[in-house]
Amino acid sequence: MPEQPILIIGGGPAGMEAARAIADLGYHAILVEKRSRLGGTPDDAGYAALTPDFRNAGEAMAEMAARIENNPFVQIKLNSTVTAASGSAGNFEVTLQNGATAEQVKAGAVIIATGFQHFDPGRETQQYGYYEFDDVITLVDLEKMLKAHKVVRPSNGKPPERLCFIQCVGSRDRQIGNEYCSKVCCGIASKEAIEVRQQLPNCKVFIFYIDMRMYGYWENQIYWPAQEKYKVNYVKGIVTEVLKKGDRLLIRGEDTTMGRPMEIPMDIVVLSVGMEPSAGTRELAKIFGVQQNKYKFIETIGGALDTVTTNVEGVFACGAATGPADLEDSVSSAAAAAMKAIAVVRKHHVKAAA
Ligand SMILES: Cc1cc2nc3c(=O)[nH]c(=O)nc-3n(C[C@H](O)[C@H](O)[C@H](O)COP(=O)(O)OP(=O)(O)OC[C@H]3O[C@@H](n4cnc5c(N)ncnc54)[C@H](O)[C@@H]3O)c2cc1C
Ligand code: SF4
Repeated sequence: MPEQPILIIGGGPAGMEAARAIADLGYHAILVEKRSRLGGTPDDAGYAALTPDFRNAGEAMAEMAARIENNPFVQIKLNSTVTAASGSAGNFEVTLQNGATAEQVKAGAVIIATGFQHFDPGRETQQYGYYEFDDVITLVDLEKMLKAHKVVRPSNGKPPERLCFIQCVGSRDRQIGNEYCSKVCCGIASKEAIEVRQQLPNCKVFIFYIDMRMYGYWENQIYWPAQEKYKVNYVKGIVTEVLKKGDRLLIRGEDTTMGRPMEIPMDIVVLSVGMEPSAGTRELAKIFGVQQNKYKFIETIGGALDTVTTNVEGVFACGAATGPADLEDSVSSAAAAAMKAIAVVRKHHVKAAA
């Protein structure tokens, strides 16, 4: 009996890296992606440049996709998803759905890499007026403007003179139940702030934050250059509401360093929205019977020492499907998931051959 392929669900950075690792080691992967192309959220949301090196996001995703497209070890199934699964480690039987067509495939192990979705700021933080005021946008909306080199106020098409970011929208918020830190938004906001200053040198840029959480090298790569070279103003404070004043926005809150209330006019307010598990992550967890944590990300059971093993033998999870993650975390965990999935397939192959 030949070794069974490994099924990977999700063609974002994590899924693509898992497929590449499996193929490089001479094993077979089937990669299932519900969209019509690979590249995951960075491609779907149209990110401009990536942290920390300002690499073109489109090019980086295309490079990852090119490593597995036309690779004899990787079968790619686009516009497809998984609707049912049965069997166990070494011998899963999975139903793939592509439009009206259903197909059964066998897999020795499964890697769930179905990623995240952006927090919808209209959902429970209405005080920031995302659906009310045209000039309140999100990090993702600004990525698209930066990519097009057209950072303008949606309300009148003019370049902003004052732009601010509000951090932790949908994250670190006990009231809405997302108590976790989304990890990337401080870095992404700082990166976007730099890009705004590069594209619009006359625009004043502010970042309102509770704590700035820059991980590892991002401190030197993004945070200090944003302040020192690009003169981005970091204000430790809590913005409690965004109001309309004339044709501008007014942000109201408290400057916690100075210990005084603040009211500052702005042309564009950018909400630094965090990460939530994607609909696909929630669905796939149910289909494979995999445990989810209280936020509905997939629970991995090995603590800090094993970030990819789930409670179901032979089913692994990686990338942002397991919790907020940057690309570095996502790709590293994907390689670990690939290695562990191969171990399962090998073990069952050897057993079957004995
Ligand atoms: C605004 C913003 C900007 C960011 N910019 C950066 C950055 O500059 N640098 C950085 O390191 N990180 C950045 N990140 C984080 C980065 O986007 C994630 O680390 C990365 O996308 C996670 O990769 P992933 O493959 O796990 O998930 P995703 O990129 O979300 O990919 C998941 C894939 O699974 C597919 N899928 C979902 N459900 C199903 C299903 N049921 N069936 C089949 N396929 C399915 C999706 O279509 C998608 O292609 C940013 C995040 C945000 C919020
Ligand atoms: S990374 Fe920054 S903005 Fe994002 S949740 Fe954490 S502290 Fe808040």
